Amino acid sequence: MLNNKINKNFILKIIDKDLKNKKYKKIHTRFPPEPNGFLHIGHAKSIYLNFEIAKIYNGKCNLRFDDTNPLNEKKKYVTSIKKNIKWMGYKWNKKSFYSSKYFKKLNKYAIYLIKKKVAYIDQLSKKEIKEYRGTLIKKGKNSPYRNRSTKENLKLFKEMKNGKFKDGEICLRAKINMKSSNITMRDPVLYRVKHSFHYKTKNKWCIYPTYDFSHCISDFIEGITHSLCSLEFLNNKELYKWILKKINAKNYPKQYEFSRLNLEYTILSKRKLKTLVKKKIVQGWNDPRMPTLSGLKKRGYTPSSIKNFCKKIGISKKNNLIELSLLEHCIRNDLNSNAPRFMAIINPIKVIIINMKKNYNKKIIVQNHPKNKNMGTHKIYFNKIIYIDKSDFKEKFNSKYRRLALNKEVRLRYSYVIKAKKIKKDNQGNIIKIFCTYDKNTLGKNPSNRKIKGVIHWISKKKSITAKFQLFKPIFTIPNPENKKKFLKYINFKSITIKNGFIEKCLLKNKFKNFQFEREGYFIIDKKQSKINKMLTFNKTISLKEKKFK
Ligand code: ATP
Ligand code: MG
Repeated sequence: MLNNKINKNFILKIIDKDLKNKKYKKIHTRFPPEPNGFLHIGHAKSIYLNFEIAKIYNGKCNLRFDDTNPLNEKKKYVTSIKKNIKWMGYKWNKKSFYSSKYFKKLNKYAIYLIKKKVAYIDQLSKKEIKEYRGTLIKKGKNSPYRNRSTKENLKLFKEMKNGKFKDGEICLRAKINMKSSNITMRDPVLYRVKHSFHYKTKNKWCIYPTYDFSHCISDFIEGITHSLCSLEFLNNKELYKWILKKINAKNYPKQYEFSRLNLEYTILSKRKLKTLVKKKIVQGWNDPRMPTLSGLKKRGYTPSSIKNFCKKIGISKKNNLIELSLLEHCIRNDLNSNAPRFMAIINPIKVIIINMKKNYNKKIIVQNHPKNKNMGTHKIYFNKIIYIDKSDFKEKFNSKYRRLALNKEVRLRYSYVIKAKKIKKDNQGNIIKIFCTYDKNTLGKNPSNRKIKGVIHWISKKKSITAKFQLFKPIFTIPNPENKKKFLKYINFKSITIKNGFIEKCLLKNKFKNFQFEREGYFIIDKKQSKINKMLTFNKTISLKEKKFK
């Protein structure tokens, strides 16, 4: 967690100072997602920051749906966002909040600003507004509608609310300064017409406040003390303060910005992630290849691995690209301590033990975790027909080769030493069976007269069941797809491989969710896919060791 003692980030330092100066009694943060898509790992950074601050300072953190833009907002996104935050282990203050609940209040504040002569109704077209606004090097110029009388402004605003105008025909703007060096301050739009159905307020409103107008006031209404957002809002900070001052807000919240998370081989924008879903490049928002919290969960990531990742990346004002290997390191670390060990064969090939009786069935008790006895044990069986992985046998090999080969010995994990004697091939020349002998004096120990170097995993045919394994690569072929306009050009269409293999039957009976399949990696059961496939299906979370995606 964000630890008080180590490396306080700049936001914690500000809060410390505010508390010392008695500026606030209680710290109150908020996480304000727009319900227009699923949360991604970038949001996790913001969730972690806001909720951990509330924890550290014994304060509160609100969950507020920033739902002022009716077009893409949906109840199903509200549901998924709540589920994700709960999954991360956080509880928000009271019930969740909604900006749309404040529409009436916001409307009153708008009227107040008109009466105060700091807001006016503009009837320039969208294109004209843009032209009049100017650029970084060209000052803006005043709209011809800027000096309307209060009476006229009030009348038009009312008509706007009552549905007299079409989308884009008219808007309410703050009267600030068209020559400001900060373009955001050049008479920003506060309200616009949108004849759209809103998932919460239905058809009640046809005018909607902009982010700039609603966000600061929502923060103020809820008593937020520190409004933390990502760096792209830096230029909006001045406006945030301006609006709160103009509505006479006392002891109002302050906005602080931190850098967004950018992650290698990943896009972190709901709009672009939605494109992947719509174009069916992935199977949905929770596809295990997606950087969404639902996707990561399905892939086998745990809440603590994600929180640990957020802790490691820290909070700063500098934008940078975080290596995917850091996220992977966090889950690998977590699962290394907490996932039980089982064996699974992903590319099976049959091995017949020729010097073993047909009915021989050696029971071997295996610890679920080599370093943690409390995790219990499970039973495996050694008998005449077993499966090993195809990649663990070679016909031709050199002196460094440590796996099974003709006339070469290898140890079967937890079991005996075997030696390959003969192979059988099909018509195409593929090896389909390996015939071996086993040394019955080597159960769990090495022979005294020779050294056995390699250890491979295996599974008894009799005590196994079939399973599917879904193996993944990043969806993108380049480390920074976010920077590319045409990001769809960089899709890796081979980012999923499905294998048919075997798992130990006893795995069905245990209570664990995540597994280490020895020598293969960490896996999790995909319940939905298992139902569809009518066969137990596993998603590979991560390999045992770091791999480069090249
Ligand atoms: P997106 O571009 O993915 O839609 P957004 O900023 O529009 O992101 P919101 O739902 O408005 O999405 O975000 C809620 C909060 O999460 C905001 O405070 C925002 O700053 C923060 N956030 C979004 N993306 C990131 C990110 N990549 N890193 C850190 N914080 C983020
Ligand atoms: Mg946003």
